Amino acid sequence: MQKINFNLIMKKLKKIYPSTEKTTLNRMRTKPDAFKVLISCLLSLRARDENTEKVSKQLFEVVNTPEELVKLPIEELEKIIFSSGHYKKKARVLHSVSQELITRFNSKVPNRKEELLSIKGVGPKTANIVLAFAFNQSVIPVDTHVHRIPNRLGWVKTKKPEQTEEELMKILPKIYWADVNAIFVQFGRDICQPVSPKCSTCPINKYCKRIGVERSR
Ligand code: SF4
Repeated sequence: MQKINFNLIMKKLKKIYPSTEKTTLNRMRTKPDAFKVLISCLLSLRARDENTEKVSKQLFEVVNTPEELVKLPIEELEKIIFSSGHYKKKARVLHSVSQELITRFNSKVPNRKEELLSIKGVGPKTANIVLAFAFNQSVIPVDTHVHRIPNRLGWVKTKKPEQTEEELMKILPKIYWADVNAIFVQFGRDICQPVSPKCSTCPINKYCKRIGVERSR
């Protein structure tokens, strides 16, 4: 395998996306509240970041703790989170996750991956985002962008986000772990989009394996 110059590629991207505060969850890093990070992450699943931001803000005007959330009637919760999409399912998940936090973890969000994953409705991506953004732990939160882009670039060859996380932790220098999610989320929205990526104007196209494959066709 050809040696990948991670420093060069990440520096180029960081120049274009100097602020890693642009995504909703990243903004929470400045004043982390583990409960709010967890709830926002659950709201962000299959939702646009702008919607997550708006809906999280509206919800946290009404509830700030697991107790307050379970006391909120489910119909009212559904109304508040309606625009995040899949609102019925999400409302039930938010209720049950909050209930588990109360009964199993004394209303606190646990800071160990196994414990987070033991909560029904919390998957590996959510667990890693909570660990990274609320507890500042060295993990790589892999969402759809962080899974897709390294595969296109040829850094990894994986089928599932969990495999991508594992592989990235082996190859990506640790100094980029905290920022890679925010950088790739912005890059994935602007340029390396899921359908029709803007490869001809992509600032890192000469380091991309996908471009090499296209050219050799
Ligand atoms: S060249 Fe295309 S596929 Fe490769 S990183 Fe850039 S936009 Fe994504």
